[in-house]
Amino acid sequence: MTRAVSKRSPGNKEVQLLKDYLAKNRLKLTQQRQTILEAFLKVDHITAEELYRQISGNDRPHMGLATIYRTLNLLCNIGIGQQRHFDDNRTIYDNVLNKKHHDHLICDKCNKIIEFESPAIERLQEQMAARHGFTLSSHRLELFGHCIDWENCRDWQRSAGR
Ligand SMILES: [Zn+2]
Ligand SMILES: [Zn+2]
Repeated sequence: MTRAVSKRSPGNKEVQLLKDYLAKNRLKLTQQRQTILEAFLKVDHITAEELYRQISGNDRPHMGLATIYRTLNLLCNIGIGQQRHFDDNRTIYDNVLNKKHHDHLICDKCNKIIEFESPAIERLQEQMAARHGFTLSSHRLELFGHCIDWENCRDWQRSAGR
């Protein structure tokens, strides 16, 4: 499997956020943590296992899955990442650094995740809450189904050997 490896390093802002947080917790910005941050900033959503496979496939010094989990959780504490639980089995880390609130459509077949934001839906939710004498502090809207366009469903592409 080939993968384009971009040489873009994480922006100073992200590195600084991570450094500050680590310093506060008496931790250092190690090469491993920086590598994980770099890889994470290139994706939209990823599991720790997927990130692990990506990093270990890149001739990088070997690092344990536990290190990846711990670092991803650090990124969540800083606000660069957010944990999502679209099913019972996996924790997906959402790269939310430059994203506002959004909701998700999830393909049951290929696990593709589409992000959307609808002011109309947001308003309806507020109205529904108000109607029931309720104030919303947050919400999660996750819609499950599958890609209509089979040719663009990665499950189809996998089974077709593409
Ligand atoms: Zn998302
Ligand atoms: Zn799909």
